[in-house]
Amino acid sequence: MKTKRMIIGINHETCIACGRCVESCPTKALEIVDGKVRLVDERLCDGFGSCIAVCPTNSLYIEEREAEPFDWGILERIDFDVFMDKLYKHYKPAELEER
Ligand code: SF4
Repeated sequence: MKTKRMIIGINHETCIACGRCVESCPTKALEIVDGKVRLVDERLCDGFGSCIAVCPTNSLYIEEREAEPFDWGILERIDFDVFMDKLYKHYKPAELEER
């Protein structure tokens, strides 16, 4: 049953389908479909917006709207090491990239 909650929003006008948000999402909530990023399953989006930081065109935002509740069970299926690798790869400061 849908309830009002915080969840990712996408500006399809500015998305360039680079896929960085897809790569960075620990719960695999996003996919590139027909040249644009899509939220494939509302239950996979935790609404924390970790993908926002990696978008080069500021096409992602958090909005409050009616959505399926987040599937907390997915956290048990996330490999912690893979999650940390994603955080390191996508969120490390640019100055560390040069080292
Ligand atoms: S990171 Fe931004 S521009 Fe790239 S696919 Fe995701 S929403 Fe589109």
